[in-house]
Amino acid sequence: MPQPDCDVVIVGAGHNGLVAAAYLAKAGMIVRILEANSEIGGATASVRTFPEFDANLSRYSYLVSLLPDEIINDLGLDFECISRDVSSYTPYKRNGIDDGLLVSRQWDAATEESFARLDPSGHEAASWQEFYGVIAEFAERIAPTLMKPLLTRSELKAHIALPEVWDFMIEKPIGEVIQRYFSDDLVQGVVLTDALIGTFASAFELQANICFLYHLMGNGTGEWKVPKGGMGKLVSELERVVRDAGASIEVNKRVTEISSNTSGVCVKTFDGEEIYARYLLSNAAPQTLAKLQSMPASASRDGSQMKINILLKRLPALKSGIDPHLAFAGTFHANESFSQFEDTFLAAQDGDMPEVMPLEMYCHTLTDLSILSPELQQQGFHTLTIFGLHTPATLFDGDNDAAREAGLKSALTSLNEYLAEPIEDLIAGIEVKTPLDIEAAIGLPRGNIFHRDLHFPFREDGSTPSWGVETDDPRIFICGAGAVRGGGVSGIPGHNAAMAVLSKQLH
Ligand SMILES: Cc1cc2nc3c(=O)[nH]c(=O)nc-3n(C[C@H](O)[C@H](O)[C@H](O)COP(=O)(O)OP(=O)(O)OC[C@H]3O[C@@H](n4cnc5c(N)ncnc54)[C@H](O)[C@@H]3O)c2cc1C
Repeated sequence: MPQPDCDVVIVGAGHNGLVAAAYLAKAGMIVRILEANSEIGGATASVRTFPEFDANLSRYSYLVSLLPDEIINDLGLDFECISRDVSSYTPYKRNGIDDGLLVSRQWDAATEESFARLDPSGHEAASWQEFYGVIAEFAERIAPTLMKPLLTRSELKAHIALPEVWDFMIEKPIGEVIQRYFSDDLVQGVVLTDALIGTFASAFELQANICFLYHLMGNGTGEWKVPKGGMGKLVSELERVVRDAGASIEVNKRVTEISSNTSGVCVKTFDGEEIYARYLLSNAAPQTLAKLQSMPASASRDGSQMKINILLKRLPALKSGIDPHLAFAGTFHANESFSQFEDTFLAAQDGDMPEVMPLEMYCHTLTDLSILSPELQQQGFHTLTIFGLHTPATLFDGDNDAAREAGLKSALTSLNEYLAEPIEDLIAGIEVKTPLDIEAAIGLPRGNIFHRDLHFPFREDGSTPSWGVETDDPRIFICGAGAVRGGGVSGIPGHNAAMAVLSKQLH
């Protein structure tokens, strides 16, 4: 192989590729990032979605929990995430009366009172506090391990030293655990949601446990915060730091082939350029990396969510009478009871679009108005992000356009069930992204938001020591969501891949 052009070539300028580049360039390495698209950021981009309105929406990812403060501090990022007082609101109708379960981030009188209306026995409220109390301890102990070489299963279990919680978080299906703690279908569903976001699984599969864990361990608290200025602010800050550190970012530079030998790596791009490097980091999914190396890709579940971005003329009124500024201040769940999740999962597995889609919703502008122009702010505009769950890519394979339309109808029907006025009357702009749309735009295989199935954050006993980023080739690493401890907006695999390279010293 000819002399290398650079120390490290990174395939893809998603946030993880940028984090890896920043660490490596700051350590003195010559780094080139090659990005297929004309824009950087991948799933963390903010976009002026509706050209006629000056509003910059987080087009794909929208909330932050997993990004360690340590990375923000190490890299000197001017990026702030804002806490929300409300954790969630879940509307319901019982005995002909519209009401809702309001849960504050910190247990308070409003939460107590809301639980009491749903369950006067007090059982669900007590279980909630106990359940999330023990998980908080678990999260606090696991978080500091995420940016170090992987511990083995036994080492991590010993480190956490909460054997009962380990048993129900790691060993037993989370669906069983939730049903043991909670009796109410609606409460069970609110808890279960974190196990199913971006993961097409039954509540009784361990894959749901892994997703649950990732949603509850971020920064040791599992709190999901609003990125000030939108998710694109993270990208622009990373870009600044990467360029300041001397790394180059080349857009419209799709990598089409990767080969390697003992002395280095060769990358070919769509325009025929050949680039030689000592190491390669793939921010593209492991399945994409395998294709580029002409190797077989390992199997993974399909993505299973629709992302709907809405600009609203104002917030809608709710049937329950709650102030929408409170109802939409946290995560708004619609039709996400435990039984609805299981029924929808089975139907979708059989190829049926959910008739009433389980929805997660979030209003960025109730926490951070800065993504809207002063004019739109003054007029009372808001943004609404809808995540429609259990809509696997297979539902869209036949006719993506028709399925997109059917999915949107199902999502809006689901939401309207709890509104005092149809949401359609308030929409100034709407865009819908199916798993196939997401794959086409930013290359997430089958629209899987985590690139591939998430992994538990440990290695099995007796396996080779690792950072969770290694491949069979000692010069090639995964620096994106598809690494062990990847998935989500975290920068962790970017950091870990950089550390793996820096600790290797191959020449
Ligand atoms: C709709 C949606 C909503 C989400 N919501 C959240 C959320 O709220 N919070 C959260 O934590 N996570 C969320 N996620 C998940 C999270 O955004 C991703 O897991 C994470 O951003 C992946 O980052 P990454 O840098 O590893 O990869 P990506 O962002 O996927 O970036 C990979 C980059 O590689 C480029 N690339 C691919 N192939 C090539 C090639 N051959 N040559 C050159 N470049 C290539 C792509 O164009 C892309 O820019 C969401 C994801 C989606 C899709």
